[in-house]
Formats: sequence, structure tokens, C-alpha cells
Amino acid sequence: MKAIVLREHGGLEQLRYETVADPVVTGNTVVVQIRASGLNHCDIDVRNGTFGVEQKLPHVMGVDAAGEVVAIGHNVSLWKVGDRVAPHFVVSCGHCAHCRSGRENICENADILGVTVWGGYAEKLMVPESNLIALPDSVSFIDAAASMVPFATAWEALITTARLQAGETVLINAAGGGVGSHAVQIARLAGARVIASVGADDKIDKVMALGADAVINYRKETLVDGVQRLTSGRGVDVVLDGVGGDILKQSLKALADGGRLASIGAQGGEIVDIDMIEFFRKHITLLGCGRSTREIAATVLGLMAAGRLKAVLQGTFPLAKAADAQALMESRNFFGRIVLQPEA
Ligand SMILES: [Zn+2]
Repeated sequence: MKAIVLREHGGLEQLRYETVADPVVTGNTVVVQIRASGLNHCDIDVRNGTFGVEQKLPHVMGVDAAGEVVAIGHNVSLWKVGDRVAPHFVVSCGHCAHCRSGRENICENADILGVTVWGGYAEKLMVPESNLIALPDSVSFIDAAASMVPFATAWEALITTARLQAGETVLINAAGGGVGSHAVQIARLAGARVIASVGADDKIDKVMALGADAVINYRKETLVDGVQRLTSGRGVDVVLDGVGGDILKQSLKALADGGRLASIGAQGGEIVDIDMIEFFRKHITLLGCGRSTREIAATVLGLMAAGRLKAVLQGTFPLAKAADAQALMESRNFFGRIVLQPEA
């Protein structure tokens, strides 16, 4: 099969389009012919060797993908050749305490697709059969690869973990990004008032079109000032943050009493000093989240099939042009998801 093979960590030149051996099914595994796979910011860190989790080289990146089953192991009972599927990026063990209690997203022995095992930057992918989610017929491979994971991530953070309620006000940071653009729709669906933050004026109209009620450009006005202005000084009930750093500090200050902050990433600063006085005086809850369960992924696919959630797509690149796709991601000059497609 063709794949983008990382043989050393480094720059875009390390993304080599090569021929490698096809995966061979065994026991309870399934091989999926990939029709589309999504880019994530962590791919840049994995390529650079700065992700904090080691890869065995050579490595194939790619956290999310969608395609068709082309081979099944002799013990596989859930799938047949031709089924339309999307692998879930948390490859769980099935037998640890968390797996047994339905929280396989925090499996103690999990592999992460495209991070610890070979992922979606390839024509084929092999995963245990329990790791696949059925793709509704009306959801395209491109839409599934683009949006299942970010919708599921936003759902796990906002609905499952932060327990966002109808009528509450939520701040979605980096709302032009992969998870942010999808989180705006999840928050809207939950009946919340949505304040979004972006770092460029040209993203404001696009975020409003996704259902945001108001947008703050944090390069022109601090998040605290913007939230104060938009909530008559009250603050927001929930924040979804994947930025970290000063944006996280500002977000904590922007919370109303009893507010919850769901953190799903820290690209903009991993070490943050927090004013604990304000923290306990306001009864703030800080929540770590970001890995969905397969059940949540199936839920959001169902909502996509019903037309209630819409994929947010920047565009597609041929798999061979993965370096161009990552260059666009690094430029930050994009909106929504970037998707790779192997040659048909
Ligand atoms: Zn497990």
C-alpha cells in the first residue's frame, strides 16, 4: 500500500509518500481501505518529535479515518467485507477496569491511532474489530473523517463532562479550529448561548454561520473584557479551551461563579499559574477531557446523518500531498478540518 511514512522526526520533508507492506489480518482484527483521513494538530508535534509520546519509527500518522472493510480475521464476528466504517482513535484493550466500566476512552492500556500505532495517512489501516464504528449511509467518508472525532471530542467535553445545560452561556476558544468549529454546533444543539473566540477577523462570519451568538477576536480585546461586555459582567457558565497559556488564565477569569472549564489541549502554553484564591472563592471546576467513547462517536454520526450537525471542511488534499496539507495547518490560515484522500 501507499502511505506517508515518517522515518525520522523533523520538518515537512520527512513526510515521504512510499510503498509499504499491506497490513495482514489476524484473529479479531479488521483491515480498512481508507477513503479519507483527517489532519490534527498533534500530527505536527508527532512529525517534529515533540508530542511527548514516543513513536517506533518508521511511523504512519493520522488519528481519524473512514473507509470500507476489505479483510477480516478468522475470529471477527461484528463486520463483513464492504461495511462502511470509521475507526475510533482510542484503541482500547477491552479488559482493564475502565474498559469494563464503559469508559474505554481512558483505557489503561490504550493505543492511540496515528500516535502509538500506525494511523490514517495510508491506503489501509488495521484495528481490532471492537474499535470500529458503523458509518451511516448518508454520511460521506470525507465528512466522517473530517468531523466524527471533533464532534465527539466536543460532545465528551461539553455534554458528558462539563454537563452544559440549555440556557447556560458557554465560551468556545479557538472556534475556527478543528474541535472549536464543531463545538460551536454541539453547544448550540444543547440549547446554550454560544460566545466564540477567534484570533482573526476573517473567521468571525464563519463562526457566526455555525451558530455562535457572539464572537470575540482575542487579538483585539481580552477574553475577560469581551465576556464581561457580552454577559453584563456576569461571566460564562462553561468554557471549552484547547489553547492553554494566557488564554486559559483569561478563561478562568471569565467564568461566572460555579463555572466549569473543560480543557482539551494546551498548544499555546502547557504550564499555567492559577490564582487559587479566585478558584475556590468562585467554586470553579477545572475538567480534563477530550477523548470520546465509541458510544459518543456513534451518537454524533447519527446526528450528522440526521442533518443536525454539519461537517466543517477546509478542503481535501491527495494523500501524496500530505506535506502541503500540514503546511496549510501550520500556517493557521484555514477554517475547520483538512482531509487527505488516497487515490481512488
Ligand atoms: Zn482497557
